[in-house]
Amino acid sequence: AKSRGRSRYSIFEPSMGQSLADRAALESDMRIDLCSDAFRPYYQPIVNLASGCIVGFEMLARWERADGKIIGPGQFIPIVEECGLIGELMLKLLEQVCVDAANWPSELTIAINVSPVQFRDPWLSEKVLAVLTRRGFPSRRISLEITENALISDPVAAQRIIESLKNQGMLLALDDFGTGYSSLQHLGMLPFDKLKIDQSFVRNVDTDENAYRMVMAMIRLADSLHLSVVAEGVESRSVLETLQKLGCRDAQGYFLGKPMSMADTTILLRSSQSK
Ligand code: C2E
Ligand code: CA
Ligand code: CA
Ligand code: CA
Repeated sequence: AKSRGRSRYSIFEPSMGQSLADRAALESDMRIDLCSDAFRPYYQPIVNLASGCIVGFEMLARWERADGKIIGPGQFIPIVEECGLIGELMLKLLEQVCVDAANWPSELTIAINVSPVQFRDPWLSEKVLAVLTRRGFPSRRISLEITENALISDPVAAQRIIESLKNQGMLLALDDFGTGYSSLQHLGMLPFDKLKIDQSFVRNVDTDENAYRMVMAMIRLADSLHLSVVAEGVESRSVLETLQKLGCRDAQGYFLGKPMSMADTTILLRSSQSK
């Protein structure tokens, strides 16, 4: 009876590893932990390929649970979004970023992901600016990463919010470039500063002729639109060298550095400064 009940009532396939009860437990833990500092910013370095210098970090959220498990955003962001709490979580993480990065070299920019769901909030830009102002953190050091999914449900409203964020001095990056729909239209329409080439292209750039040509075309497109380029998902020296040859400006990936805690980030910055 149990197994029948299971197959009838679970909304997820067993392969997704989550029953309805697991999911409810996760949601309840999440609501409790949102009030503490259990959701922490981790930081992955972004490196300039010509100089080898760190030019900034992408903040990637991690959930450090009481049982010691560290949960990645793939598992909790969708739930936080469904519960209507993603805006709250983002502002909380942003606040922590302002504290963490206050003593880092001032030329480093910190990239922060904005969920498409947040573009339903007409006050998004004002809320972000309020945190930066309160913390005395310069908006030009924040780069907001937006995917094209942000534009699907209400493109006009999203465009207004994006322009407002830009006017407050923040940098804007189009994330996961190449995987969304009608990418080129959005690139021309919106005030982006950066384009992030999705890892699905970058992964094979050194071995696959097609991936190589696609990445080359994306870099040329970005150059002609005066956008800077970040290649995501660099996992080997050979990919890195191919990107260098292609004239890609910045890159990010496990080969260059994994997402790490604030403490490890500070250690990394100290050791790279003394070099
Ligand atoms: P993303 O914005 O595309 O972030 C890049 C993801 O690729 C991160 O996964 C990062 O850890 C991973 N990555 C970096 N280098 C490599 C590599 O060399 N190889 C491979 N295979 N992966 C690499 P992560 O941290 O699990 O985050 C997954 C997604 O969750 C992010 O994708 C982003 O869309 C979302 N996310 C993370 N933090 C936040 C957040 O604070 N707010 C929102 N709304 N979304 C977030
Ligand atoms: Ca991102
Ligand atoms: Ca991405
Ligand atoms: Ca992604």
